[in-house]
Amino acid sequence: MKDKCPVCSLQKTIQLYPADVDVKKLSFTYVKTPNSGKTFRSVKCLNCTHVFCSPIPKNIYKNYEDVVDSEYLKYTKSIRESAKIILPIIKKHVTSGLILDVGCATGEFLSIAKQFGYEVEGLELSKWSSEIARKRKLKVYNTLLKVLAKKHTNKYDIVTLFGVIEHFQDPRLEMKSLQKLLKPGGLLVVWTGDVDSISSKLLGKNWWYWQGQHIQYFSEKSLNHLAFNYGVRHIQSKIYPFVAFYGLVENSLSRYKIRPLIMALLTPLFLLKPRWTFYIPGEMLWFGVKKT
Ligand SMILES: [Zn+2]
Repeated sequence: MKDKCPVCSLQKTIQLYPADVDVKKLSFTYVKTPNSGKTFRSVKCLNCTHVFCSPIPKNIYKNYEDVVDSEYLKYTKSIRESAKIILPIIKKHVTSGLILDVGCATGEFLSIAKQFGYEVEGLELSKWSSEIARKRKLKVYNTLLKVLAKKHTNKYDIVTLFGVIEHFQDPRLEMKSLQKLLKPGGLLVVWTGDVDSISSKLLGKNWWYWQGQHIQYFSEKSLNHLAFNYGVRHIQSKIYPFVAFYGLVENSLSRYKIRPLIMALLTPLFLLKPRWTFYIPGEMLWFGVKKT
């Protein structure tokens, strides 16, 4: 059977990596294990450069409902600080209105967005993290995008997805829903790894985005292609600001054998000040606008 690209539908592909993980052994949390870098069979589309797992594991979203991820809580401070850098960029495009954060987890981004004067809602499949968000008085839906899009067409001024689209089972179906949820002229903001970036090319299979729970690996070109087909036009790309604290960096590097060396090099930096913002090549922060 030929592999069909889930972005452009062509069947011109090459295999990048064979499968080395079983879906039953997958982790859907932030906990890094020796198995974290193992993936399903992945192939690259020679037309639009998109990389995807094929065959796609079935019913993958079911796994997210019961996720309890205390490891994620170590990252919340960093996510909030990154949000304080990203929201002024969003403000330049859309100054006020209603934000939907897809995959909002414990609501870190949304609570900062509220401080910036936006109205906010979230969508989250994990019951555990959405309950934490609700305790903060945030409105969170526990439903699939396609279900939400049916009821809330043309409702949102801004839709954000941070570390979410690499998990999509069917990117075209999801993009269709995202487009539907946005008002005409509304802003779509996506953070994901750029599989065509220098970091991806240099590190090969050791690139941090290669994880069993990731099944779509976008490039700027393939994301542009997908969005454009559903009436969302790319307007700019930036790099996600990763706000790092010493312990967090150490944690993030736990799958790499050279961690002690990197930490030895970074220690003097963190002695100078406890918090640094890193702009790491390949951490694509993509902005698009729905056609009016
Ligand atoms: Zn393609």
